[in-house]
Order: sequence, then structure tokens, then C-alpha cells
Amino acid sequence: MSDAALSLIDVRRRFKQGGETLEVLKGIDLTIASGEIVALVGPSGSGKSTMLQICGLLEKPTAGTVAIAGTEAGRLSDDKRTALRRSHLGFVYQYHHLLPEFSALENVVIPQMIAGVSRRQAKDRAMALLDGMGLAKRAQHRPAELSGGEQQRVAICRALANRPRLLLADEPTGNLDPHTSDHVFAGFLRLVRDEGLAALIATHNPDLAARMDRTVRLNEGRLS
Ligand code: ADP
Ligand code: MG
Repeated sequence: MSDAALSLIDVRRRFKQGGETLEVLKGIDLTIASGEIVALVGPSGSGKSTMLQICGLLEKPTAGTVAIAGTEAGRLSDDKRTALRRSHLGFVYQYHHLLPEFSALENVVIPQMIAGVSRRQAKDRAMALLDGMGLAKRAQHRPAELSGGEQQRVAICRALANRPRLLLADEPTGNLDPHTSDHVFAGFLRLVRDEGLAALIATHNPDLAARMDRTVRLNEGRLS
């Protein structure tokens, strides 16, 4: 158990809106082994994004336990939780959130330098990742000079730059046309497998879900 990349035990999340209480997560149990890639599916509004935010330590559950690589996040100070997030977790969202004034390369270099990696090493790693996603020739381009699929591939490289143990992705190809989505997703999965990462990936697309190791379905606040 302690070497699981992610472990959720009886995780609950309620939102208060006006006088109403909305219980979005009603007791979620999930263990993701090291290197395991899990699809998270469920209807719109079922709580996929909420669950990913909780797994990513960006939101706290109302009750229950979240552990990343055997460390229980709820027991940590804010600083230690942030450090755990930075060292162990990578995020990919539907929108790329790249820094517009920097090149693709710099967007993958900068998070590594913030983590204390030398510029030279960071550049080598960034180039290897970009090359792996077929972007070697695009490294010097700014986001605005890249297509939607290319932007998202850079965002994937950035998420992997600091060698996280667990990747969390919220409909990572949801903004792309089906053909581009397919292509970007294939590269994404290959990279995640090559790096030996565990991943939890929300998707609406059953074809994409079928390519992962396992699917969990969120419905009415529970996983099945
Ligand atoms: P999904 O990603 O599966 O579409 P979400 O996690 O975004 O679902 O939302 C699940 C439910 O929780 C929705 O009904 C949404 O309105 C509600 N919700 C999400 N975040 C908040 C919040 N901060 N305050 C109140 N309600 C929220
Ligand atoms: Mg969502």
C-alpha cells in the first residue's frame, strides 16, 4: 500500500451553495499502483475535476484520506503539502496554460530551474521530452506560433519535466479535433509509459479510456 502512487480512502467532498449542500463525492476509495495508468470517466458534472483537484492537493476533501506515494497529505503543513505536490505531481489541463512570452523550450525549462536543476540539465531534459513528442523543430517557437495540438504536447512535456510520480490530467485532449486528439494522446501515453509514471486521466472519450490499464467510473458521487 505504501508504495502506491495514489491512495484515496473514503474521500468525501461537499459544497455549500446558499442553503443547499451538494455532496459531490460520497466516499471514494481508489489505489493507483506505481506505473499504472487509470482512466476516470463519468458524466459531465459528476465530480471528475473535483476529484482530480483533491488528488492534486489543490483542494482539501471534506473528509477522508489522500496519500501520495505513501505520504498522507492531510497531516502535512501547507508548505510541506506544496513541496509534496511539486516533487511528486504533474498536471495537464484541457487548456495548455503555457507562458505566452516564452518559447516551447523555455516553458519546459523554467519549472525545472525553479526546482533547482541547472539550466544546462534542464535544457537537455526539455529537448529530450520535446523530441519524444515530435516537437524538436518547434522548440524555439512561442505558443502563439504553434497549433492547438502542438501547444498541448508542450504542456504535456512541461508536466513531465520534473519527473513526477503521478500525472493528473483533466480531459487533456478535450479541446482538440478528433484526429489531433488521437495523435496527441498516443504520444502522451507513450511518454507516460516510457517514464514509468502512474496517471489518472479524466476523459469523455471511450476510445482513449480503452487504451489505459483500467477505467474507473464516477457516478452519483461514487466510483465503480
Ligand atoms: P466534472 O468535472 O465531472 O464535470 P466537476 O467536478 O467540475 O464535474 O463538478 C461536479 C459538481 O460539483 C458540479 O455540480 C459542480 O457545479 C459542483 N462544483 C464544483 N466545484 C464547485 C465549487 N467550488 N462550489 C460549488 N459547487 C462546485
Ligand atoms: Mg471537469
